Amino acid sequence: MKNDHILDEYYRSCPFPKPKDTKPKKKQNGFKDKPNRICWYTGQPGAERHEIFGGPNRQTSIEHGFQVDVCPQIHARLHANADNWSRIENLKWRMYYQNAYEQRLMELGMERKEARKAWMAMIGRNYLP
Ligand SMILES: [Zn+2]
Repeated sequence: MKNDHILDEYYRSCPFPKPKDTKPKKKQNGFKDKPNRICWYTGQPGAERHEIFGGPNRQTSIEHGFQVDVCPQIHARLHANADNWSRIENLKWRMYYQNAYEQRLMELGMERKEARKAWMAMIGRNYLP
């Protein structure tokens, strides 16, 4: 499919950040650190912390660090999800964190199928092939 091709191209040219650590922390998204936050896309300070899975999964995103720091302009764009770029970015981050989560569970000894079940039980939707 055309969109799959676009996504494949994107993956080749865009390195992912390291996964965030998952040590216990407060259930707030770290708004107070805003002046020190750097937008992952533009490198500008004053970035906002964006949860990758919103709605009912927002708290889960905060708990597990499924987040990215982005400047207000890009933040608004990701939430609007109204253009091809933002749709790809939103999908990319969801795929990235699902994969990181499942890989972590497998490193801890879980079978791939079990890891997928655990993801589905938590988030309710599969973003990976
Ligand atoms: Zn957000």
